[in-house]
Amino acid sequence: MQISKNFSLEEFERSDTAKRLGIDNHVPQFAVNRLRTLCEKVLQPVRNHFGIPIIITSGYRCPDLNDAVKGATSSQHMKGEAADFKIKVDNTKGIKLYDLYLWMVDNLSFDQLIWEVRDGGRRKWIHVSYKNEKANRQQVFTCKR
Ligand SMILES: [Zn+2]
Repeated sequence: MQISKNFSLEEFERSDTAKRLGIDNHVPQFAVNRLRTLCEKVLQPVRNHFGIPIIITSGYRCPDLNDAVKGATSSQHMKGEAADFKIKVDNTKGIKLYDLYLWMVDNLSFDQLIWEVRDGGRRKWIHVSYKNEKANRQQVFTCKR
């Protein structure tokens, strides 16, 4: 099911961990509308501005999946309010993921925007969340482990 011009609900359900462990990670109805808003307010504007595919690496997480990936106990991924994403490193336009991050800081409303770096920079992604029901905090930080 398409939830915005360039994003489908399936992209937010897909998880290798869920598949491997036999966890049913279908998005419940309460989270569908929130993910739709996350697309409308954040992900689709990024997609529109840069014009390259956005690859969702973790969208919705049911509680079992969140436990399996050692997510925060109150993770916004379980509420349908958050997504992790990256872009192809060798994209045709030479755009860097950090360019997206900087543009988002200056141009979008969100609850939390996190620049995620792991393994000495070998793995990088952006975590972003958006709240439907409450005020968005516009928090920006970096998480390196
Ligand atoms: Zn995340």
